[in-house]
Amino acid sequence: MWSPSGSLAPAKDDGIFQMLPLGLRVQDKIEKLIDKHMQSLGASKLALSSLSAQSLWEKSGRLANGVSELFRLTDRKDKGFLLCPTHEEEITSLVARNVTSYRDTPLKLYQITRKYRDELRPRHGLLRGREFMMKDLYTFDVSVKAALESYEQVQVAYRNLFEELKLPILVAKASSGDMGGDLSHEYHLPTSLGEDNVVSCTSCDYVANEELAEVRAADPSAPEEKHIQWSRITEDRKTLVIVWYPESAKGAVNEHAVKALVPDLDTSITDPSEYQKSAEKGSLKVINLFDGSLRHLTTFLEEDGLAVQAAELEMKANPEFQSIEYVSKDKEGKPLSLLGVATGSPCPKCSDGTLKVQEAIELGHTFHLGTRYSEPLDARVEVPKAVLDGPSSSTDKQSEMVPLQMGCHGIGVTRLIGAVADHLHDDKGLNWPRKIAPYEVVVLMNGVKVKPELVGGADEVFDRLADHAELNGLQLDAVLDDRELSLGWKMNDADLALTVLQVNLDSLSAQQLSQVKKQLDEEVEHLTNSFTQLHAAQQKFKECLRCVKAQTPSSGDKKDILVPLTNSLYVKGQLADPDRVIVDVGTGFYVEKDTKSAADFYDDKVKLLASNISDLEQIVQQKTNNLRVVEEVLRQKVLASPQPQKA
Ligand SMILES: [Zn+2]
Repeated sequence: MWSPSGSLAPAKDDGIFQMLPLGLRVQDKIEKLIDKHMQSLGASKLALSSLSAQSLWEKSGRLANGVSELFRLTDRKDKGFLLCPTHEEEITSLVARNVTSYRDTPLKLYQITRKYRDELRPRHGLLRGREFMMKDLYTFDVSVKAALESYEQVQVAYRNLFEELKLPILVAKASSGDMGGDLSHEYHLPTSLGEDNVVSCTSCDYVANEELAEVRAADPSAPEEKHIQWSRITEDRKTLVIVWYPESAKGAVNEHAVKALVPDLDTSITDPSEYQKSAEKGSLKVINLFDGSLRHLTTFLEEDGLAVQAAELEMKANPEFQSIEYVSKDKEGKPLSLLGVATGSPCPKCSDGTLKVQEAIELGHTFHLGTRYSEPLDARVEVPKAVLDGPSSSTDKQSEMVPLQMGCHGIGVTRLIGAVADHLHDDKGLNWPRKIAPYEVVVLMNGVKVKPELVGGADEVFDRLADHAELNGLQLDAVLDDRELSLGWKMNDADLALTVLQVNLDSLSAQQLSQVKKQLDEEVEHLTNSFTQLHAAQQKFKECLRCVKAQTPSSGDKKDILVPLTNSLYVKGQLADPDRVIVDVGTGFYVEKDTKSAADFYDDKVKLLASNISDLEQIVQQKTNNLRVVEEVLRQKVLASPQPQKA
């Protein structure tokens, strides 16, 4: 229960998680850190109910959009509720009821609460579950200008937070999707478990999510390119869509860009030729889309009449076609950009960079929502015209009711735990950053059965640490591990529960290095002693096992033996029952067993010790390696230090 590997306990694959004691410590620390950065924005913390009335979501219009991931439920009177995945509706109606004056803005409210999502396929443990902790901050301002200022402040706080966690976050411009609004950023952590692709430039600061990522527009002076085609069909199977793009393109066609032009495109059918073959005469419309880089083709088609002629020829060759369209520019008259981004594609922002596509997980998201929720839910305040338009433009006392300009900004707390664990683990397991490690110091007691005098000693070490921290005004998160487990086991657990403090040995003075070396010497010596003792104990049990096995079950005859009284004095005795033996089970207790179960008992002991010995061997090896490194750095320090000048 207390071991770090047991911090997070999934119940099968149903996306439900129980947070055990050590995992909860990590979560609490993340929440405290988030509190700190939210308070730096002047945001106030609250807690909204997880239950929300469906009628409110109908009012905002979000229920009509058919959000399939909502957990919906009805009460005994058949009134509809839902388990909130986010709280725009609730917070907006709360603000609408309570805030009437512009003087209450800028208003920033946040919470760290449980959210729910009816995930079709919960996966990757904490990264995508059905219930999760999330921080959601909502901002309310009277004007777009003020709302964008709030947005900028949130961006800064997010960057500071992730920096403090030492996570290499990529901030990507994103589309707003279901949330509404027109400005949004995603905070991604690159990881192989990620479900999103983030595109970044190797040379400049360009970052975008895959949907919005672009490649550099083609150079007009570049030589003509060979072209290839990409075909899809629409959902009603009545329109064939053909994309023409250069053969040299690094990435494939950007489906999002094609879908923006032909919204009912069915991207799941990758070969529409069967539909074309079976189409009736004159039933299939064709749309040809040309990527802007195929200049020779697009300029050719733009010449008078050429497109019409081309279409006529095509129609003759394919009687199933009803009409043919050639499109090379968007509604604003710009050449189409249809190429998907791949690692190696040219960056659209700088002239020499190439793009890198990485799998990543989204840990945070910021949205400027505008009046998407405040209009339908009637969150308005009365604002004097002088405040809205600036003092110079108006002198009258008139005022206006304006809908509040909103922003919403999330951070997935549960997801963050999973992502950090994945990002910073090594072959031995978890490596928490110090800020969120379950503990900073673990005091270990050596031995399975701790001797009473040792318990006092460990308590004293623990108390002294606490006193020292208090005296020096330090926060020290320490725990005393008094479980009845072997030292190797406890050291492994401590390794997982603690943070990894990395110290640059070069930065230490020769004196400090000597101190480290001395400490390591002592540790290695102590561990080697333990190693020898474990070996001796194992030998003893092996010998017992051999004796018990040698005691062949007899026909019930009593056996003559010699009983040792001292090292050299023996007396004759008789073994009353050779099938039963007395077994020393440790700490002065003896139990009578038959020879079979006694053999099993010793066999188990030998195996347990073998595993402890192997654990300890690894630790000794690691410490010895550390010692070698420290010695080498120390040696070089001493050699490099200026030699005393001879007088
Ligand atoms: Zn670039």
